[in-house]
Amino acid sequence: MADSHFNPSQLIRDLQYHAGPYAKYALEARKKYIELRLHQDKRIQQVYIRAIRRVAKQLKELSGSEASPVKVRHLLDVERAIAEEFAKLNGNVDELTKEYIQQGVITGTSYSQAITLNAIKEIGLATTPMLKTYTRLNTRAAEAIYARTHKGLATSDLIWNNSKRAEQAVRNIIQEGVVTGRDAKEVAEALEKYVLTDSKTMAINYPDMMERIQSRVPLRLSYEALRLARTEMTAAYGEGTIAAGRVSPSYEGTRWMLSPSHPVKDICDTFANADFGLGKGVYPKGEEPMFPPHPNCLCSLLPVHESPEDFVERLRVWQKDRHSQPDLEEWYQNIYKAA
Ligand SMILES: [Zn+2]
Repeated sequence: MADSHFNPSQLIRDLQYHAGPYAKYALEARKKYIELRLHQDKRIQQVYIRAIRRVAKQLKELSGSEASPVKVRHLLDVERAIAEEFAKLNGNVDELTKEYIQQGVITGTSYSQAITLNAIKEIGLATTPMLKTYTRLNTRAAEAIYARTHKGLATSDLIWNNSKRAEQAVRNIIQEGVVTGRDAKEVAEALEKYVLTDSKTMAINYPDMMERIQSRVPLRLSYEALRLARTEMTAAYGEGTIAAGRVSPSYEGTRWMLSPSHPVKDICDTFANADFGLGKGVYPKGEEPMFPPHPNCLCSLLPVHESPEDFVERLRVWQKDRHSQPDLEEWYQNIYKAA
């Protein structure tokens, strides 16, 4: 897995350092984000395992109690099961991807939301309008991520393409079984092995069956679906982080937090070293970068806010004289009161 060399401790320390008085919220958001990644992977993988088990069961039932080769007749029967199972799988993966986009946005928003709500509570301003603002922003950001296109293809199209590719891989393996006169049970077991491990392991366990097929099927059946879901969830996290920052009155910009597990220097190093005069890797409000710049990126974003003391003090000054803090007055009129 791409995560095997993932060492989170350095990034955690960096987050703690840069978040300073807000470290608690930064660490909570990071923890939630990592949990989302893990659960998302597990649940999508589970959808694949379930689909393959159902196809394998069909295949085993066809062969009856006696060992019998897969025949063309069997293939036509099992064809229906494959189509059905992968239509279901596609719907499930789509739902899960959508669900984790929503969760990713909420997690991204949580940091700036906590900072703003705490500060305005402290000066006795009602929190409801800002809660409404963040909630609406979460919905809008999730919809935008799901609807965005990659080379003309929407997220749902990409999910569908991945499902179709996996379906075709399963077909190829079963067809190979027919061509080489394999026992249906053995083909079914090979498929189950494949979804639990990868095509290399399957080939080791079923050598003569898989020799010809290995180059025509992906190494891991669920890999593309997992990778896409992760990229979308990460993008959702980034979208939530930036959008929430922009409506928060103490927000100054966003810091690129480079993942220390980068195997090679890549575009992320460039992002992390950009200098706008706010400190290395800090992007001013309105100039935040696209995130993530590549699939499987393990970097993070951390909004930069005024310190809680400075911010609350400024809010108090503003309460006494609205015109003394034009940026806070603008936030109050355009964001707080407009909620
Ligand atoms: Zn990165």
